[in-house]
Amino acid sequence: MIAVNRFGINFSQIRENAKLKLSELLKKTVSGSGDDVQTLRLAACCNAAESALGLVAFNEQLIAATALYSNRIVEMKTGEGKTLSAVFAAFLLKCEGRKIHIFTFNDYLAKRDYNWMKPVYDLLGVKVALIVEKTPFNERKSAYNNADVIYSTVKECGFDFLRDFMVFDSESTVGREDPRFDFAIFDEADSVLIDEARIPLVIAGDVDATVSDEFVKVFDFAAAFTEEDYGINHETMGVFLTDEGVRKTEEHFRTDNLYDEENIDLRCNMDTCLKALFYLKENRDYVVKDNRIQLIDALTGRIAQHRLLPGPLQSAVEAKHGLKVTERGVVTGVIPIQFFARQYQEIAGMTGTAVSSAEEFELLYGLEVEVVPPHKPSKRTDHLSAVYYDSESKWKAVTEKILQIHKKKQPVLIGTSSIEESENLAQMLHKSGLDSVSVLNAKNDEMEAEIIKNAGKLSAVTVSTNMAGRGIDIKLGGAAGDESDYHEVIKAGGLHIIGTTLYENTRMNEQLNGRSGRQGDVGETSLFIALDDEIMLKYDLKKAIGKLRYPKPATDEITSKKVRKEIERTQRIAQSKLLEERKRLLRFTMIGEKHRDIIFKKRSEYLSGANESALPISLDIWKNYAEDEYKKAVGKFGEEKLQAAQREFILSAINEIWCDYLEYTSELRTGIHLRAVAGRNPSEEYNIDAEVYFEGAEGRLVDKVVEALVALTDFEQLDDYRTNLFKPKNARTFLMEESGDELVRKPILLNIFEEVDESESQ
Ligand code: ADP
Ligand code: MG
Repeated sequence: MIAVNRFGINFSQIRENAKLKLSELLKKTVSGSGDDVQTLRLAACCNAAESALGLVAFNEQLIAATALYSNRIVEMKTGEGKTLSAVFAAFLLKCEGRKIHIFTFNDYLAKRDYNWMKPVYDLLGVKVALIVEKTPFNERKSAYNNADVIYSTVKECGFDFLRDFMVFDSESTVGREDPRFDFAIFDEADSVLIDEARIPLVIAGDVDATVSDEFVKVFDFAAAFTEEDYGINHETMGVFLTDEGVRKTEEHFRTDNLYDEENIDLRCNMDTCLKALFYLKENRDYVVKDNRIQLIDALTGRIAQHRLLPGPLQSAVEAKHGLKVTERGVVTGVIPIQFFARQYQEIAGMTGTAVSSAEEFELLYGLEVEVVPPHKPSKRTDHLSAVYYDSESKWKAVTEKILQIHKKKQPVLIGTSSIEESENLAQMLHKSGLDSVSVLNAKNDEMEAEIIKNAGKLSAVTVSTNMAGRGIDIKLGGAAGDESDYHEVIKAGGLHIIGTTLYENTRMNEQLNGRSGRQGDVGETSLFIALDDEIMLKYDLKKAIGKLRYPKPATDEITSKKVRKEIERTQRIAQSKLLEERKRLLRFTMIGEKHRDIIFKKRSEYLSGANESALPISLDIWKNYAEDEYKKAVGKFGEEKLQAAQREFILSAINEIWCDYLEYTSELRTGIHLRAVAGRNPSEEYNIDAEVYFEGAEGRLVDKVVEALVALTDFEQLDDYRTNLFKPKNARTFLMEESGDELVRKPILLNIFEEVDESESQ
């Protein structure tokens, strides 16, 4: 086996040592380095896994563990035992004093893996903890501070990171420093690190809204617009000015060029007002109830409690309906999953499908892919794809195929691209007389796990979206099946996978196929494609294949080699387009990431008192910038109390300035494409503007704090200062979906963090 020596693993020595007593082994592994101690450590792992779980680790699992330890993305097929490999890697790292976070795809899997592997960790003397959505504050804190290994999801640890940016004393942070983000192992690494890479984790809240005179002027002006002044862009969910609109605006506000640097505020206000007036619609996007604007959730169609529109948009919609301007939503922190992963000193990952995305792993994270061969070679047969003229004939063929497979009692798992497709297919199967169809439709991860576990039972028919039930093992014969159940299914041909579309990334198709042929089992895969599948339409496949003579009737399979070639080419084009898109987006996002790193680090250093001069400003802002007021206030309240108040003001001002920055850059990005018209490079322009704005942050911080002091000198009691702190209410965390380069965002998960609210508003 080639890969063996690449990592210098001595298998026989490990097996030999694993026979020793664990306590002796552990004593020997405490210190030292080099191959010998690594061999002993892996031996300890093998020993513990066998005693705790009765699993004798395969050589392949040892290779995977060593590769993870060496920062690789490990490709190891589904069912080969990645969960245990990660434990071994974690132990190797822990022996070197590292702190390891193991991220799984969802809460359900984090909990499953934690419970499953905990006995191994216990024997090895490794402290392991679990953080899922329901984990209370104290347990989180204890996990971050005490555990060697944490099982969690990116979402949970990412939100903890953002939340810690909002607290006012170091006791209230959950994370530890030194370093908080040490080593992360990502399970299902392709889903998390690539497919979800761009999804931002967001923390938001509401603040009292004030509206400037300028804003009111713009609003009143735009409210009188007629249809010739503006147009609606449904793709970007924005409203733009027509030439006539631009002319009128320039005339009204007395400027030669609306797109001049100096008119940025005017343009931002204009964007907001136009969107409120002409894009957002009553009863579609929001309702007006009890004299308030209440948002309608785009996904559920229900009123979203505690949710306000971002920034001044809320105020503008309120103005549109003549309501009193109240509060507005602000984003107080945001981090895309990709950049959360980059917070770690080192990362590694594992998945069944990595090779076809090797270029992306390299681009986004600088990680190499390591392929670990299966323990037993797979006996899966992949059939040539079947191409149809349109989706109607495709789904008919899929249905027939399923019935055919089902006749032999062979279990079949069908992957679709949406819940809707899943349900339609299930209905077609019902009509054809097939009653016992299980449909996975993402109600919750636990229920899905229960269903998909049994997709390998004799005669099972399971319809699922591509992603559903990831990480769940499908055993032939069913989860609780015995030897004879297993052999019956083997005789029927193993699990048959049916793919129903070509994805933009070949990896997506492989993910589904990978569920069959587990641990050397037999199995089959088939793929059905229609010339009007989404990807084909997007890349205009029909044009590419030109005039073809289709078989008659057009419902039959198309077997033309030319068509097949063009389809393959389409997928290759799609794949490289995706990569280009990622590269392009990176050019826009890198600067914000740099700025966030700076500001988060400084605030946390200042908060913990680790570095009192962490801020790029003199700490005694009040003394230095408003000496007279400072003296007056000291006389009234005493220096010590005043310093404490200043500390809070600085912390809150940092948050406020960061909020402003996020709002500014988001507006900037929405408007930046207009600059391209003037022959300038939008991403460069964006970077320059963002940098300039960020550089001004220090000055604005000083202004804010000084302003707070001046206000404070009039207070009767010092404690009243708290009313002037920037502390958004109704703190909530959610994920956002980004599409294209515009920020079309909708919350797809809402989770109110009550603790933030209560501890801070007192
Ligand atoms: P993966 O995450 O790679 O898809 P899992 O970690 O979920 O795989 O393991 C799949 C199955 O293989 C589980 O049922 C597990 O108990 C089993 N397994 C893991 N390691 C071994 C081993 N060394 N010997 C026998 N079975 C194993
Ligand atoms: Mg797994």
